[in-house]
Amino acid sequence: MEIANKVFIVTGGASGLGAGTVRMLVENGAKVVIADVQDEPGEALAKELGQRYVHCDVTQEADGKSAVAAAQELGALFGLVNCAGVAPAAKIVGKNGAHPLDLFQKVVSINLIGSFNMMRLAAEAMSANTPEPTGERGVMINTASVAAFDGQIGQAAYAASKAGVAGMTLPIARDLAKTGIRCMTIAPGIFGTPMIFGMPQEVQDSLAASIPFPARLGRPEDYAKLVYSIVTNDMLNGETIRLDGAIRMPP
Ligand code: NAD
Repeated sequence: MEIANKVFIVTGGASGLGAGTVRMLVENGAKVVIADVQDEPGEALAKELGQRYVHCDVTQEADGKSAVAAAQELGALFGLVNCAGVAPAAKIVGKNGAHPLDLFQKVVSINLIGSFNMMRLAAEAMSANTPEPTGERGVMINTASVAAFDGQIGQAAYAASKAGVAGMTLPIARDLAKTGIRCMTIAPGIFGTPMIFGMPQEVQDSLAASIPFPARLGRPEDYAKLVYSIVTNDMLNGETIRLDGAIRMPP
């Protein structure tokens, strides 16, 4: 499988892991639609790399359709990388009262339902593709988190949303197998992105110390390399792969 000239959508592509993925795909000759809600950095990255930016809130069906339509203007949509996500923390009870229900709903809506929304729209478009000689019509990659398996205090909503992402991967892969569309999920550990850089330095240090090897925070390039491997290896299907340096979270 060659990435060159294939068309991809990267949600959350304006920042962090998504932006690293956009760079990797473009370096390998792909055409990319950056789909995000952060218009300024999204437009800037698209301009720098000569690609398209589309304002796309992944929770909105109409926005997802616009992103798919923008991709189809560049050619047949072949790949979707779902990186859009949020990670607010909240304890179940505390000084400020119980975990707000609307916060839980928002996290699940963006991280889980938003990923599903983009997948079903992308799969619909991909299923009309002329298959590759291998029979493949497309590939979809989601982003879960090690929190899906090892959630920490304050991560109830986040961990639930990411467990949902991991959980839907295999049934969707099985469902779409006859169509030649693969579905995979990456579960990152701790990566140096704005999501983590927003935390206090001591928290960042303790997170980095929890990675035995390579004893550093993950980098967007580490994530992008796994995306490359998944796209180019059609035996990878229906799995959730941890990408975490054998992390052991502090208690
Ligand atoms: P980031 O904050 O740098 O990027 C997330 C992007 O998602 C942002 O550009 C943001 O604007 C976008 N986004 C948020 N809500 C959106 C919506 N409704 N529609 C479209 N775009 C939206 O964070 P990141 O670290 O690059 O995170 C990427 C993904 O990786 C997320 O799903 C996150 O949960 C996951 N993840 C990150 C880490 C980490 O340590 N950084 C670890 C595990 C999982």
